[in-house]
Amino acid sequence: MKKILLLFIIFLLVPPVSGQIEIVKNGRATGRIVVDKISKTEYQAAELLNLSIKKITGTELPLADPWAKVKKGDIIIKSLPLSGSVVSSYGITEDGFILSSDSSVFRITGSNGSGTINGIVTLLENYFGIRYYAANSGEFPKRSELHLPSFINIIENPSFRYRQTQAYSIAEDSFYKVWHRLEEPGELFAASYWVHTFDRLLPSEKLGKTHPEYYSYINGMRRPGSASQWCLTNPDVFETVSKRIDSIFRANPGMKMISVSQNDGNFTNCQCENCKKDR
Ligand SMILES: [Zn+2]
Repeated sequence: MKKILLLFIIFLLVPPVSGQIEIVKNGRATGRIVVDKISKTEYQAAELLNLSIKKITGTELPLADPWAKVKKGDIIIKSLPLSGSVVSSYGITEDGFILSSDSSVFRITGSNGSGTINGIVTLLENYFGIRYYAANSGEFPKRSELHLPSFINIIENPSFRYRQTQAYSIAEDSFYKVWHRLEEPGELFAASYWVHTFDRLLPSEKLGKTHPEYYSYINGMRRPGSASQWCLTNPDVFETVSKRIDSIFRANPGMKMISVSQNDGNFTNCQCENCKKDR
């Protein structure tokens, strides 16, 4: 009895060996992806993972429902709802994720937004050796065995709320877009108010007639126009635009960003006395 007790104590004191979770062996799937197929983002994350596994090994992992009994080799993809700006007690913010594992199961836990997708991208980069440099230009190293690390716990939150490049490769290669965690204006900006929005916010064609004082004063007169700018020292402009922005956000629930940005025109800034004074 004493021997058994001693062995049990030794077992408790020895830390677990940091091992690997096998998901593909000899080119055949041994793991599964556990995902709620109804959740659009989670399912996209699962598809991204399986597409990549197929490119590497030639096989795909079977999908299992979240209520199925957990098995060794399961990769569990799950999104958690944000409460405010942080998923309480998990420490992940919008688009953030946790990669965690025990000895037999690997979990990708994301917050609202692209959390689970970003988690998959990090997994592919860190553990499968995939690299993706530009549109249609990636490396998928061929393997017949795939493993994920056990006993890890990694939390990542994005430093920037919105990430965009002027590379239009997004349109031609969706993998490039998710790999670099890029987003498109229409996905995040209320009613796609993004860059050169002055004339959309205060349409000069309409307001130029009733409120010419909202627009640039140049060479002796107010000059409303789509390439003109606002008279930015006019307090009525600030009030009117604020109300307009409020109404745009109300009409676009769930959107959190808007771009208030000058029209695409050079040398059309207001030169009224007040604006000149403030410069
Ligand atoms: Zn002015």
